[in-house]
Amino acid sequence: MSSESTVPARIEICRFPAGKRIAVTTSFDDGHTFDRRVVEAFNAWGLKGTFNINSGKLQRTGKPAVESGTRTYLDASEVAEVYRGHEVAIHTVTHPWLDRLDASQIATEVLEDRKALEDLVGYPVRGMAYPFGAFSPQVIETLRGLGIVYSRTCENAANCFPPAEPLAWASTAHQYASDPTVPERFEKLHGNARYSGVFYVWGHAFEFFDKNDWAGIERIYKPLSGHADVWYCTNIELFDYEEARRRVQIAANRKTAFNPSALTITLNVDGKLVDLPPGKLMTLV
Ligand SMILES: [Zn+2]
Repeated sequence: MSSESTVPARIEICRFPAGKRIAVTTSFDDGHTFDRRVVEAFNAWGLKGTFNINSGKLQRTGKPAVESGTRTYLDASEVAEVYRGHEVAIHTVTHPWLDRLDASQIATEVLEDRKALEDLVGYPVRGMAYPFGAFSPQVIETLRGLGIVYSRTCENAANCFPPAEPLAWASTAHQYASDPTVPERFEKLHGNARYSGVFYVWGHAFEFFDKNDWAGIERIYKPLSGHADVWYCTNIELFDYEEARRRVQIAANRKTAFNPSALTITLNVDGKLVDLPPGKLMTLV
């Protein structure tokens, strides 16, 4: 650096990678064969999904489940392939009302699901959605000891991220929200150039089947896709990036920054985006 280099006046740690201003994330519950249609569409449009699975409900035939005129669970043997590139997350083994169980049954439902899913996908499974959206202070307390990073409820919040309590995480909206619809809500936020935040939509793939509305996948989700200023991420990617950005160390003299995490973090240095690589100490002058 030349001696004329000046110390930056302001260094912001960007909310999302590459300085994107909105993060779009989604989740789908229960793990029916209908999820394949969502994944196929999302792969074509560059959207990401988190799929919350009841391992105890998966079929165990060793062959892909056949989609039929009813709700059919996927076969365990196809879970890794069907959801490749997306996130598989916990939805408990048997889909009980967790708020009606004691701590040991809660722990068993969550931990056994976690282990079974990890056996299938081959990576640590750390996210979750509550069956029926049901939880209680005791459920949250139990989950805290099991390494669960977040758990989605069925509640909605305009500013859903970062949540005050990640184990009671509200989404922006259910996929069939009306007045305004999901595409209308997104358009309003995205059309406001100063808006920055997370847009989180959840649902079940079987809703498209039940409503005989397969066109709904495209109508609801395609408008969210293809925007250069949007980060398309899974639920856990959102939490992992947030944790990593909070760990970034900026020198008080604003001459250096250190990224102790394993993720690239984007800084905005006097209006210029700078990627701070994992494990790297960077000079900013
Ligand atoms: Zn469910």
